[in-house]
Amino acid sequence: KAAIKVTSIIKPLNAYISITNETAKKHAESSDSRQKDCSLLGKLDGIPIAIKDNYCTRSHPTTCASKMLSSFIPTYDATVYQNLKNVGAVLIGKTNLDEFAMGSGTIDSYYGPTKNLWNSDVFKKYYSCNSQAKEHIQQNTDAHSWHIAGGSSGGSAVAVATGSCYAAIGSDTGGSTRNPASYCGLVGLKPTYGLVSRYGLIPLVNSMDVPGILTRNIDDAVLILNNVAGPDGFDSTCFQKKYIPFDIPDTIDISNFRIGIPKEYKEKNLSLEVQECWDEVSQYLREGGASLSTVSLPHTNYSIMCYTVLNRCDVASNLACYDGMEYGHRSDEWSSVHNLYRKTRSEGFGKIVKERILVGNYFLLEENYEEYYVKAMKIRRLISDDFNTVWNNNIDLLLTPTTLTGAPKYNDFISMDNQTQCSVQDYCTQPANMAGIPAVNVPIKLSKNGLPLSLQLMGPPLKEKELLTVAKWIE
Ligand code: GLN
Repeated sequence: KAAIKVTSIIKPLNAYISITNETAKKHAESSDSRQKDCSLLGKLDGIPIAIKDNYCTRSHPTTCASKMLSSFIPTYDATVYQNLKNVGAVLIGKTNLDEFAMGSGTIDSYYGPTKNLWNSDVFKKYYSCNSQAKEHIQQNTDAHSWHIAGGSSGGSAVAVATGSCYAAIGSDTGGSTRNPASYCGLVGLKPTYGLVSRYGLIPLVNSMDVPGILTRNIDDAVLILNNVAGPDGFDSTCFQKKYIPFDIPDTIDISNFRIGIPKEYKEKNLSLEVQECWDEVSQYLREGGASLSTVSLPHTNYSIMCYTVLNRCDVASNLACYDGMEYGHRSDEWSSVHNLYRKTRSEGFGKIVKERILVGNYFLLEENYEEYYVKAMKIRRLISDDFNTVWNNNIDLLLTPTTLTGAPKYNDFISMDNQTQCSVQDYCTQPANMAGIPAVNVPIKLSKNGLPLSLQLMGPPLKEKELLTVAKWIE
C-alpha cells in the first residue's frame, strides 16, 4: 500500500506508465499470508518492484511507450518477471521509456517525458511532500527547467530513486540501464549477454539487448541478479549452464585486482567534474592496493557509428510485424490492405521510430547490404576483440566514465537531434553491448550543482562477481 501511495505522489515525475493497483494488492496480501510460515517465504516476498514497459506482463498492458501498443495486453509473462514473481516480489507498476527503447533520455515517449528527481530544488521540496511541494514540482516541470532522467530506462531509474520500489528492471542495448542510473545516482547493472533471459522483452537489437537491474546499492543488485539469472528454455541465446548465486562480503580486499583505464574514453566532451571523479576513484583504488594501468581499446570511436547501422537494421526488421492485423493499433482505413498497413504504421509510430525504420530499410537494400550491414558486423568484431586483447593482457576490469556529464537540462537535451543525443550519451556505454560483456554504473558523488556523478566498471563475460565486488568496494 505504501509503495502504491508513493507512486501516486511522484506522478508529476512521470516514472510510471501504469500501476498495477489491484494485482499488487492481491500479491501483497498473499505474501502476508505466507509470513506466518517462514518455509513458504520467497527470497523477495512482498518486496515491491517495477518493470520497464517493454516487458510482457500477462493481463497487464505493455505499451513500449508507443501508441502502436497502447492497448496491447500480453497473454504471457516475460521470464524476468516470472522469476521475480516466483520468489514473491510484487510488481507495482510498469515504467516509462523512450518509444520501443529508442533513445537515451526518456523524452520520446507517447506518454510524455520522465523527469529526473535530482533537480536540486524539486528534490529538496519533494521530501517535504506537502501540497506546496507538489505545486512546486508541477511548476518546475512545466517550465522545462528540469533535468532529464536519462534513458531509455528513465522511468525505472526514477521509480527506484524516489523510493517507490526496491528495485526496477530496465533493458540495455547501448546503455539504457547504465545511463539513467548514472543521471539518477543509482547502481545500474548490465549483465553478460545471455545470463538473463530476454524472453518477453520486446526486442530492439536482439544480439545486444540485455535485461538491466536498477537498485540503490550493489548488494540489492546482487540479490535481484541472483533471482533473475539462469537458463531459460524460451530463450535460445541464454547460457545453458546452471547459474550459481553469489554474495559479496562486507570486507573486501582489492589488492589482487588489475584495473585498466582505457585512454579512448577520455572523450573531448568529457566534463571536468567527471574527469576529476575518474581521477579520484583511480587514486582511491591505487591506495586500496589495486594495480592500475592505462590501456587501449583502439576501435572505441567506431562503436556508435557501427551501432547506428546495426540498430536501424534490427529496428526495420523487428518492427515490421506491427501492421494493424494481429495486435496493436489498427487504423480505421479500410480502402485497401496496403492503405491499412500504411495508415496504421504512420499513426502508430512516433517520429524517431519511423526515421529508424526508413534508414534501416535503406541499409538492408540488396545494393547496400554489404556496404553497411556486413561492414558494421566486421567492425563489431574488432570492438569486441579490443576487449579480449585487454583481458588477455591480464587486466581484470576496466574503469571509465558512464556518461560524459551530469544529467543535462531538458531544454539543452532536446536542442540536439536523436542521433546526436545518442552519440554523446552512449559513447562510454555502447561498446560493452557490442562485446556482450557485463558493466555496471557506480554512483560516486554529487556535482557542484547537486547532480549525481558516476563511473562505469566493465569486466570479461560472466565475471559479474568480480565486477560487483570492486563496485561494492568503491561504493
Ligand atoms: N541510445 C541507444 C538507442 O537509442 C540505446 C538505447 C538502449 O540501450 N535501449 O538505440
